[in-house]
Amino acid sequence: MKLPEINTAEMKAFLTELLNTPSPTGFTEGAIALCEDVLSTLPGIKLARTHKGALVGTLPGAEDGPWRALTAHVDTLGAMVKEIKANGRLKLSKLGGYAWNTVEGEGVTVFTRNGDPVPGCLLITKASAHVHGQDVSKTERNDDTMEVRLDARTTSADETRALGIGIGDFVAFDPRVVLTDGFIRARHLDDKACVACMLYAAKAIVDAGMTPKLTTVLHISNYEEVGHGAAAGIPTQVSELVSVDMAAVGDGQASDEFHATLCVKDSGGPYHHGLNQRLRGLAETYEIPHKVDIYPYYGSDGEAFWRAGGDVALALIGPGVDASHNYERTHTEALIATTNWCLAYLLN
Ligand SMILES: [Zn+2]
Repeated sequence: MKLPEINTAEMKAFLTELLNTPSPTGFTEGAIALCEDVLSTLPGIKLARTHKGALVGTLPGAEDGPWRALTAHVDTLGAMVKEIKANGRLKLSKLGGYAWNTVEGEGVTVFTRNGDPVPGCLLITKASAHVHGQDVSKTERNDDTMEVRLDARTTSADETRALGIGIGDFVAFDPRVVLTDGFIRARHLDDKACVACMLYAAKAIVDAGMTPKLTTVLHISNYEEVGHGAAAGIPTQVSELVSVDMAAVGDGQASDEFHATLCVKDSGGPYHHGLNQRLRGLAETYEIPHKVDIYPYYGSDGEAFWRAGGDVALALIGPGVDASHNYERTHTEALIATTNWCLAYLLN
């Protein structure tokens, strides 16, 4: 069987729009709605939301039997306003696991309670080289030494409050999406790249007039970065779950930006051997550029489902993403490889 054609141009246009839709964990409604727009165009799909806001699409299969599921997450790293400082600037509380230096100097948007976005920038408190000299490089980056400078006239807590800003407001980092020569450079390719792969695999099947072999659940998770995204929302009929999430690229890693990777083990232990073997066989049959790897500091949403008591065979595949949880980059070839791997799995 030949795999159906992926609409790569449309997939990348969707990915760009998704990357430009702010969705720090806990503030994902816009990104979920964008995914819903794409999935709702697929004839035969049943869409539902979980109570905590994940999107679950069910595509009927050609055969009766146990169901399959794919999961990918739209939530990203971000922050919340922890404190309004006396100088009118903001102290933040992190959402997800990252180091402050990876977002230092980044543009931010603060989403106020009444919905008005206020732009700003994340800086260290001793930011000016001409004022602080050596301290600029020597200052340890931590919750107390990082602050948001708002692009608004404020030098006091009262003036900042008058902008509508309050404790608990969500803060998103600018994604800075740049597409050049097949490369995609942006924040939050983890895991929006995989959401695009998953949705455009489903679209390729439907557009080609094909049907997945077994009934397939597409689970768009919205709390992965804090560890419990797919803990709920996977129906009990599902016997196999494939987490579609970025592959870790760097020193000592087999993964790269031009391949999809099967992760056989991460911080949560080994994945399901039988399902891994089948996915490797499919990658070989369909000549999908792929690697096999182990990720040293990594947990997936599939493992969140396992920990919540989910009884499924679980595997993890995804495109290589360089500098993850930093200013990330991948290549179109890795996205195509990941999408084709999803297609080979769902059609066989
Ligand atoms: Zn991820």
